[in-house]
Amino acid sequence: MTTRPISQVFAATSNGEDLSVSDHFEVINPSTGRPFGLAPSVTVDQLDGVFEAAHAAYLVWRTDDNTRREAMRKAADVLDARAADLAPVLTAEQGKPLSDAEAEFHAAAVWLRYYADLELPPEIIRDDAEAFEQVVRRPLGVVSAITPWNFPIMLAMWKIAPALRAGNTIVVKPSPFTPLATLAIGDVLRGVFPNGVFNVVTGPDPLGAAMVSHRIPRKVSFTGSTATGRRVAVSAAEDLKRVTLELGGNDPAIILSDANIEEIAPKLFWGAFANNGQICLAVKRVYAHASIKPRLVDALAAIAKDVAVGDGMDSGVQLGPVNNAPQFARVKELVFDAIGNGARAVAGGAPLDRDGYFFSPTILDRVDDGTRIVDEEQFGPVLPIVSFQDERDAIDRANNSEYGLTASVWSNDVDHAASVASHIDAGQVAINGHGRGVLPHLPFGGHKASGVGVENGPWGLYGFTDIQVIAAPPRN
Ligand code: NAD
Repeated sequence: MTTRPISQVFAATSNGEDLSVSDHFEVINPSTGRPFGLAPSVTVDQLDGVFEAAHAAYLVWRTDDNTRREAMRKAADVLDARAADLAPVLTAEQGKPLSDAEAEFHAAAVWLRYYADLELPPEIIRDDAEAFEQVVRRPLGVVSAITPWNFPIMLAMWKIAPALRAGNTIVVKPSPFTPLATLAIGDVLRGVFPNGVFNVVTGPDPLGAAMVSHRIPRKVSFTGSTATGRRVAVSAAEDLKRVTLELGGNDPAIILSDANIEEIAPKLFWGAFANNGQICLAVKRVYAHASIKPRLVDALAAIAKDVAVGDGMDSGVQLGPVNNAPQFARVKELVFDAIGNGARAVAGGAPLDRDGYFFSPTILDRVDDGTRIVDEEQFGPVLPIVSFQDERDAIDRANNSEYGLTASVWSNDVDHAASVASHIDAGQVAINGHGRGVLPHLPFGGHKASGVGVENGPWGLYGFTDIQVIAAPPRN
């Protein structure tokens, strides 16, 4: 099969040409469950050429900070200008509503500009009559970036922008479920970055494994499941590549007895169901004080029943399908397991009777810890509501998970909520909102099995550098 789909492979070789790829794989539209495009399967042999080109480009790219900043600002302008053209590709392969898809390209531009503007001055530790000491950050070399299917563009940009700003070059591999939008940004950014600086390769999972074990890259920045993250860590350890791992989560929201249910219900609902629940940091289990739980369950069920679910290309749609067949099967399995064990679906509870991977937004009552839907990461449009009597008990149950990505606490008393938040083991805890801290300038990363290292802010950029001390005699 030699047909070139929507975009060509953008993997600049040393002479700036695309790879010639003879094999392709099908990309499924989750709204129909049928193939709609083809993506190139880059071979492991071809990866050698891509990494060599990226390394040759690195030797020049690392030398001029201003060139890097200017290229990044130009790239941001291109993404803003092309967001509306590119969004349908993302919607077709991912399923999200068109407006959300377009917003993702604009968010990528925001991250590019943030890092283009971020200063990275050397830290002068001592400058006196005895000594001159400074700490500088140096780029690592070529970065392998591996991304999942839920936010293919934004999560890629959390790696691309800081890696390039620090002076590295990068090879990005999107999920085989969503390869085309990432290829498309490679396409529209042709010529914005010098050849070999920003490369996109697509292929099935073994291509990701090859990007980790390859001898050239010095860093692997991975976002995906905890199971795959463990394999990445083991493989990267072989030659001591640096790793940043952004992994799974089972984020709790704790609703205290004084929370204003009418006010918080919509925010809590969208904290769980945005992107159809396919967000690492979505609310995945709710611990509601027993005194307010019935009202909360009713309020969430009313919203769930009112949500417009459909093909993301259709206007007015708020939630699209689950992204892929295995994930759809997993969501069904967890919901049916819960219902089989006594849970009650007060909204949803079943797939929609239509083509594609549509599942009705589901609120589960009469569930408890020890049920799979509470203990595991569902990554789909389902929310279990569990009750508690005692705040200490709620905190212990929230922490009783291998994960520790984010969490939230909801109350009319913000100080009290903050004191509850201080006991939660998670990389971010939000008060009266969920995911409030997901911003370019704040560090994002998981505790425990939710990850290693952080992205965003200066801390995210430091992850693409090695630290160096210059210790010199006094300057005068
Ligand atoms: P996944 O682990 O199956 O795949 C992620 C990426 O890894 C894909 O590009 C895949 O091709 C690649 N891959 C597969 N096997 C590999 C290997 N052995 N070596 C290297 N790469 C390999 O995850 P997914 O199903 O695409 O994404 C869903 C998961 O991602 C969820 O668990 C979710 O919580 C997590 N996630 C985490 C964050 C975060 O920032 N913490 C953000 C989004 C998603």
